[in-house]
Amino acid sequence: MKEFELINFLKNSAPGPGFSAIGDDCAVIEGDWLASDSYLLLSTDSMIEGRHFLRSQTSGTDLGWKVMAQAASDIAAMGGKPMVALISLTLPEVAPDDDYIKQIYSGIAEFNDRYDTSLVGGDTCLGKDFSMALTFVGNCSSRPVLRSGASKGDQIWVSGTIGLAGKGLALSQGKFDTNLEQSDLKRIENCFQRPSPRIELGDKLLGLATAMIDVSDGLISDLGLICEASSQSAQIELDDVPVHNIDSGDELSTLRACSAGEDYELLFTAPAEKNTSVREISKNLNQPVTLIGQVGANTTRPKLLIHSQGVISQAEKLLESHGLPPRGGWEHTA
Ligand code: ADP
Ligand code: MG
Repeated sequence: MKEFELINFLKNSAPGPGFSAIGDDCAVIEGDWLASDSYLLLSTDSMIEGRHFLRSQTSGTDLGWKVMAQAASDIAAMGGKPMVALISLTLPEVAPDDDYIKQIYSGIAEFNDRYDTSLVGGDTCLGKDFSMALTFVGNCSSRPVLRSGASKGDQIWVSGTIGLAGKGLALSQGKFDTNLEQSDLKRIENCFQRPSPRIELGDKLLGLATAMIDVSDGLISDLGLICEASSQSAQIELDDVPVHNIDSGDELSTLRACSAGEDYELLFTAPAEKNTSVREISKNLNQPVTLIGQVGANTTRPKLLIHSQGVISQAEKLLESHGLPPRGGWEHTA
C-alpha cells in the first residue's frame, strides 16, 4: 500500500469525539480538560539514515535542527504554536560516535532557542538502522486552520521562495553543477539543511487563512491536497510562483521547483477581501508572501490548473509533458 492510500484509508476511520480525523498536517485535539478555545496539536516525523539523510553529508547539529523543524512545521501549518518535543533514537550496533550524537542535541538546543520550544524526553533503543522519530506537541488559541476550508474565490498565497531545498538536495547528491555565487550556494544549503518553519506567520494567519498546509512534498502536490480536502479546483499562475533568481524562470525550471519537496513554506488560501491584511502581516513580520492563484469552482473531482505561457493546463498533464512525475497526494486524484 502506498502512503497516500494508507492515509486515505485512515481518513475514513472516525477517531471519536474531540479528535480530528487523520489526514491533516497534524492531529487536533479538543476537550473539556483543555482551556476553553484551546486546542492541542500533535505531529510526528521520522528521519532514517540512508533514506532521509546521509551522516557523511549532514552534521549532527543540522540533523537535530531539521528533525525538530519538520515536525514543528506541521503545527505551524495549522496556525499552532509548537511547544514541547519528544525524540526516539534508534541506534545501530555500530552507532554514530558520541560527538555526533551530542551534536544532534546541540542542533535541537539551537532550534529551541530560536523558537522558544523545549525537548522534554524521548526513548533510545537498538535497531538495524540509525533513525529518529520526533513528536511535537503544540497548542492553538482558536480553531486551527484545516486543509479543507478553501472556498471559491479565495486567493492562494505562498510564503518565501519555492524550490531551494530541492536544489540543496540535488547539490548534496552531486546532481546540481551550476556555477553558483558563494552566497547563493550558502542559501540553498541552508534551506535544505536548516529549514525555517514559518511559526510566526502561521500564528498570525489564524482566523484569516481558510486553508493551509506546509510545502513538504512540493507546491503542486500540496496544493492538490488542499483542493482535494476542500473539494475545490484551483488555478495558479506559474510565472507568479516565487522561485530563486538562479532559476531560469522558464516553464520547466519553475515546474521543477514546484515539484521539489522540503521547502516548509506555508501555502494558504484567504478570502480576496483579506488581501490587504495578508500583505500587512507579511510586512510586519518581514516575511515575504506571494499571491499565486485563485480557488475555482466546487467540484467532486478537484482539478489543479496551471496558467503558463498563455495556456491553461491540468497540472498533471503539464508535468507529464515535461517528463516530470505527478507527485504525492495529487497523484491519485489525477
Ligand atoms: P506531512 O507531509 O504534512 O508531514 P503526512 O503525509 O506525513 O503529512 O501525514 C498526513 C496525515 O496522515 C497526518 O494527519 C498524519 O498524522 C497521518 N498519518 C501519516 N501516516 C500515518 C500512519 N502510518 N498511521 C496513522 N496516521 C498517519
Ligand atoms: Mg505538512
